[in-house]
Amino acid sequence: MRFFTLLLITLSPFSGPISPSFAQPKVEQAMIKQGLVDVHKVDPTILVDLKYSTTDNFVGKDVYGDLTRAYLQPMAAKKLAKASKYLQVHHPNLRLLVYDAARPRSAQWNLWNALPNLPENERQKYVADPRKGSIHNYGCAVDLTVATKDAEPLDMGTKYDFFGELAYPSREEKLLKSGKLTQQQLDNRQILRTAMRQAGFSAIEFEWWHFNALSREKAKMAFRIVD
Ligand SMILES: [Zn+2]
Repeated sequence: MRFFTLLLITLSPFSGPISPSFAQPKVEQAMIKQGLVDVHKVDPTILVDLKYSTTDNFVGKDVYGDLTRAYLQPMAAKKLAKASKYLQVHHPNLRLLVYDAARPRSAQWNLWNALPNLPENERQKYVADPRKGSIHNYGCAVDLTVATKDAEPLDMGTKYDFFGELAYPSREEKLLKSGKLTQQQLDNRQILRTAMRQAGFSAIEFEWWHFNALSREKAKMAFRIVD
């Protein structure tokens, strides 16, 4: 049997690299089984740097392990590809750079527990309660920025996952007036928001990088949480 499998791989007619399913991390296999798609396969020009799969995040730990690709529900991935296309039509030298997409619920607990000093109602501004589930857990939300072709992020005024007023889209006017954000930083955020909105995403109040393809209620009705 093993010989037969080997023979099949050796004789495979595909010219590209062979990526047999056993090489795929379990978490990715589970997502694919639930119908999610790798956004890079939908639009290879979208840049991906899953921050929770590195130590460069607010937890300071790799909470994703071998999950390094951005997965989304097909409807959300399609919208993201539309945003990417729009961005490149209007700014040929810019690309979308994805920081987070579908997030397993186990990772949601790690993020939730990483903010023990914030009371739960305050914590919910930044990390959804794992008991309720984040829209990320349904594969219907994406965190991202705009970068140059070389993956150099534009200046948005704060880093990804900056917890505070400086990251609130709802306070931008005030922050501009008080000199805490520059016009250039707001213009950069606007480039991202315009591309995402015209593709059907909605922005939220507290994070310039977060966009929903569906409301939590609709995501809950249509999809299962990724465990
Ligand atoms: Zn998010």
